[in-house]
Amino acid sequence: MRKTIAILLAVIGTWAPVSPARGEPAIRVAATLSSFADLVKQIGGDRVEVSTIAPPRFNPHFIEPRPSDVLKVKKADLLVHGGLDLEAWRGPLLDAAGNPDLFPGGKGELDLSRGIPLLEVPDRQLSRLDGDIHLFGNPHYWTSPENGRIMARAIAGKLSEIDPTHAEEYRKRLADFLTRLDGKIAEWKQLSSSVRGKEVIGYHNEWPYLMEFVGVKLEQFLEPKPGIPPSPKHLGFLENYMKERGIKVIIQPTYFPKSSSEVLARRTGATVVILCQSVKELPEASDYIAFVDYNVRQLVRALEGK
Ligand SMILES: [Zn+2]
Repeated sequence: MRKTIAILLAVIGTWAPVSPARGEPAIRVAATLSSFADLVKQIGGDRVEVSTIAPPRFNPHFIEPRPSDVLKVKKADLLVHGGLDLEAWRGPLLDAAGNPDLFPGGKGELDLSRGIPLLEVPDRQLSRLDGDIHLFGNPHYWTSPENGRIMARAIAGKLSEIDPTHAEEYRKRLADFLTRLDGKIAEWKQLSSSVRGKEVIGYHNEWPYLMEFVGVKLEQFLEPKPGIPPSPKHLGFLENYMKERGIKVIIQPTYFPKSSSEVLARRTGATVVILCQSVKELPEASDYIAFVDYNVRQLVRALEGK
């Protein structure tokens, strides 16, 4: 381990990322999630060198940053993160990296939750003792393309602030991204119009923003509370709930075990559908727009019984 760190330090010490086209030093960005990293790349183009901390096939709440992640943050000009209590590991990682610009309120910090109309904000203060890990509202907001717009604008604003010389370039890339995204938003609204008002069951409560966008109801989860695994008693409750309402679709990302969902699906004649929580979680979700596209199409197809 010590040897690995020494090698990494040696490599990073001599490494200065460069915009390939112009030979200018690029802005080093560390993004906590692959979805944020993709948006930074779309807006920053070859002006940014982006690294991701949480691998896309892992639960974003609980990853264990490696020594190489500490180095990424140490060397970064900008940290783009989800805010709230999404990344339980963000505080310890920042402490380990000790880069003061990236601490909350620092000039190289971008908290993407700011400016997002949050859902499920509790009306009283919660603590972990309540058995919940969404203490400040639901933190999975990037799954809705309406919020993709807000995040892209925030990223363009921050890049222009750090690198004002190229502000015009970021503005153009933002405009191009928003034009493409808005075109797709209209298409996704049209596509999902046939399934509005239907209901699905989730594993973890990480889809309220996407469900609001497509107009699909999602109120019950295999986890009795966010972060608490399903129990036999709770599965029994869900079985009755699904049968009473004729619910035929259970959604979950790749990183939760499928066994409980499959048991419930067998008992109720439902289908388990894998949606992506992160860009690049599956090959089909290759960038932000492809990620939303994959999720909307999978969901609509399953709810139409195809
Ligand atoms: Zn969560």
